[in-house]
Amino acid sequence: MKIDQRIADAINEQINAEYNSAYLYLAMACYWEKVGRTGVAHWFFTQSKEEEVHAEIFIRYLLDRDGEVNLQPIKVSKQSWESLEQTFAETLVHEQGMTARIYRLYALAEENKDYATRQMLNQLIAEQVEEEHTVRDIIDNLNLVGNDGTGILQIDRELGSRSAATHS
Ligand code: MG
Repeated sequence: MKIDQRIADAINEQINAEYNSAYLYLAMACYWEKVGRTGVAHWFFTQSKEEEVHAEIFIRYLLDRDGEVNLQPIKVSKQSWESLEQTFAETLVHEQGMTARIYRLYALAEENKDYATRQMLNQLIAEQVEEEHTVRDIIDNLNLVGNDGTGILQIDRELGSRSAATHS
């Protein structure tokens, strides 16, 4: 069954939001690499790739449902940050916003009795829960170590061990 146009439009907006997320995290990765936090940079490079994977899931889905993909420009985000705390606080707010977007999409699918779209979104909703949790953990750890250099190095090393973006 061809996808409802209102849902297709909302998915196209979501594709753009995912690429904007990828770009934001790419900017964060580049900044932190430049100032020597290579573990943090690696974490954000991986995060950026993951957002591209999300965009590709929505693109694939639209094509499978005989919908039209309508790519829009990606906005340039800011390119420097004050601190790790600020970077991860911004990441958490951003992810909460992405979760809210997916909920709105889900509500629209529900309203239209589009069970296939609901099904597709379930996996992404579960992933948002995990992403918010991961970022909250990092913020907790940053708060715990404060300005302690050894602690910050330890966190940087841990973030550097994040494995490549996969999709389950
Ligand atoms: Mg995403």
